[in-house]
Amino acid sequence: MFRQHALRSVAARRYATASSGPQARAAVPNYDLFTQRLDKARATVLENRPLTLAQKILYAHLHDVTAMTRAPVAGETYLKLSPDCVAMQDASAQMAILQFMLSGMKQTAVPTSIHCDHLVEAYEGADKDVARSWQTSREIYEFLQAASQKYGIAFWKPGSGIIHQLVLENYAAPGTLMLGTDSHTPNAGGLGMLAIGVGGADAVDAMADIPWELKAPRVLGVRLSGSLHPWGSPKDVILALAGKLTVRGGTGSIVEYFGEGVSSLSCTGMATICNMGAEVGATTSVFPYTPSMARYLGATQRAPIANAADKQAAYLSADAQVAESPEKYYDEIVDIDLSSLEPGYNGPFTPDLYTPRSLMADAVAREQWSDKVSAALIGSCTNSSYQDLSRAASLARQASARGMKVAEGTEFLVSPGSEQIRATMERDGIQDAFESIGAKILANACGPCIGQWNRDENPVVKNQETNSIVSSFNRNFRARNDGNPQTMNFLTSPEMVLGAALSGRLSFDPRADTLTDGEGKEFRLQPPTGDELPKDGYAEGRAEYRPLLDHQPAMEIPIAPTSARLQSLEAFAPWNGQEFAATRVLVTVQGKCTTDHISAAGKWLKYKGHLENLSRNTLIGAANAAMDGRVNLVRNAIPGLHPAEGSIPDVALAYKTAGVPWLVIADYNYGEGSAREHAAMQPRFLGCNMVVARSFARIHETNLKKQGVLPLVFARPDEDYFIFAKDPHELVVSTQGVKDINEHSPVVTLLVERVRDGNTVESHLVECRHTMSADQIGWFKAGSALNLIASQQGTTA
Ligand code: SF4
Repeated sequence: MFRQHALRSVAARRYATASSGPQARAAVPNYDLFTQRLDKARATVLENRPLTLAQKILYAHLHDVTAMTRAPVAGETYLKLSPDCVAMQDASAQMAILQFMLSGMKQTAVPTSIHCDHLVEAYEGADKDVARSWQTSREIYEFLQAASQKYGIAFWKPGSGIIHQLVLENYAAPGTLMLGTDSHTPNAGGLGMLAIGVGGADAVDAMADIPWELKAPRVLGVRLSGSLHPWGSPKDVILALAGKLTVRGGTGSIVEYFGEGVSSLSCTGMATICNMGAEVGATTSVFPYTPSMARYLGATQRAPIANAADKQAAYLSADAQVAESPEKYYDEIVDIDLSSLEPGYNGPFTPDLYTPRSLMADAVAREQWSDKVSAALIGSCTNSSYQDLSRAASLARQASARGMKVAEGTEFLVSPGSEQIRATMERDGIQDAFESIGAKILANACGPCIGQWNRDENPVVKNQETNSIVSSFNRNFRARNDGNPQTMNFLTSPEMVLGAALSGRLSFDPRADTLTDGEGKEFRLQPPTGDELPKDGYAEGRAEYRPLLDHQPAMEIPIAPTSARLQSLEAFAPWNGQEFAATRVLVTVQGKCTTDHISAAGKWLKYKGHLENLSRNTLIGAANAAMDGRVNLVRNAIPGLHPAEGSIPDVALAYKTAGVPWLVIADYNYGEGSAREHAAMQPRFLGCNMVVARSFARIHETNLKKQGVLPLVFARPDEDYFIFAKDPHELVVSTQGVKDINEHSPVVTLLVERVRDGNTVESHLVECRHTMSADQIGWFKAGSALNLIASQQGTTA
């Protein structure tokens, strides 16, 4: 039966003290194993060349170094890696588990955890909202809990916290490699871990101990100098970096921080920086091991990991030659001087639109952004550390001492990252400080950050009014938070959010402007102060929110056949060995098309485990280049097929029903955003055979490959994309090169014919490229990666 026992023993050896069942916390990493593997790689294919930290961790996790014949080339070579652990959130875990159920495995091969955080809707406040989520999502929670018990997974129930905060508190360990089914998994880079956001299908690889493939990334060095000024925060580092690099600047790269400024940062501050590295498209971000990481490990009851890591200075940082001459070893270097870094405000609608605080008032006037702040939100996985909350609370205390509350018409919401953080915040008076100025404390869950924000009664949402919100979150695509496309959402530090909450204005600069106190007197806030870690240690929180660690291999996993939210998967059909022919262009997407646009979250989250129902939202956020950028509207190519013009999922479903294959033409960085594989599964389910883009976001391109969709990029993106921008419903596409597809010949040519009234009126040959490795071609041929895994085990998916 499928290599299972041998493979699991390999997985177990990655930890010095391994456990066979679900784990509450990471065991001490097996640094001897990592350094042995690294030394072997260095001595052979790497020819003893100096390495960055990111390269060291990657090469220490090569599945089989002897299988490599030459040094990896960034952007070309696929590395086959053995991750140490997996973490999944409740929305993405559903599909991952449904897939894992088809693999035939009895237990996950590496420690795995599931975190129920995305399905709790923010409405009345913490406990009530968690209780409501049990009413609305009980079948999902029971499904995930039963699967956790069956496969030996640690299960964190709703209310226990947000995946990335819980991973940082419990599972992150320096120098290890983790996969997480969420794009902000890189948060754990703040604890020196290479933590990479993937789709559920990749997580299934790791859970089955199948080597996980990653194209060797570039390493982008960010050199930090100086130290933060009193109003500065780690968030400002990543806000500024996003402004410099844009949402595409980190694509294909790991961002590695170095320089003397690193030592001035807290572990949780570094986690914030790594978390939002997802917004520059980076594969992940990582910091070298520092004393602040050791302090954090000690404070979170993992002193043995700190003790082991303390002895691994050579492994847990870049080689000395890299530190001496970074220009020689990093593919690119960006310099950031912390001392001169201003607080940043990024937005609206994109996380890379950076405005330094001092220019914000001018920008508000010039861009006609709504100055009135209708809601101010702090917390989330990005910014809910003790340091963040205690610094923000110091500002709240100043205001409440003067009889102030948040501005009229401004909601102030706090999302703690975990039960441990919430309980510590309550014990240390931080919660009181927030509540004294009018805060509502939400559940330890994602809430408004993922659009789970019941704000429907608020007039700005009800009437779709233009308004501004300010948050310490990480992502701000249009309509993400409250579903209102007119809500302008700005990302900033928790300290700046407090300023916005108290003033109610976007243009307010807490460093320079004055507030009016309860007696009508003007005053200026003093710079925030706070503690890196709680002086009295972290409070444990309520026992009911500790993880369930209960391995029951005989457990039945409940999926009701009538369920609207869970559906067993059926395997996708394998490729028929022929060129694609008579393929129709469903839509030519114009501009930004994130995974939120391809597979919306918000109210659709409840269908994450039901592919058929979820596919009704496919591409509903996409703008059609052929119809003046109209969103979710396309023409039907087939005469007599209903609807002649309609929503993208309606027309896609009509094609599926009529057996007409279709493709998507996409703009630059298609699929940026989250790791959700639904954005690849849904088009596949509806009959998509290809996505042809000017460029792809890395995770989404891999997800398409995993689901058996052929991703191609235009060889001439600035010319050929426009062939498809006019009346694409008239185009009929066939391929040349798919039949002979292999990893050595990347070219696939599209024969594009414009057919009007049955006559071909023009035709084009459009050269495209694929980036598939030999293994990925195996997925494509099998119909999906899962089909291939199942066939290797002698079962059918
Ligand atoms: Fe949750 Fe938002 Fe963090 Fe994603 S980014 S895990 S939605 S809090």
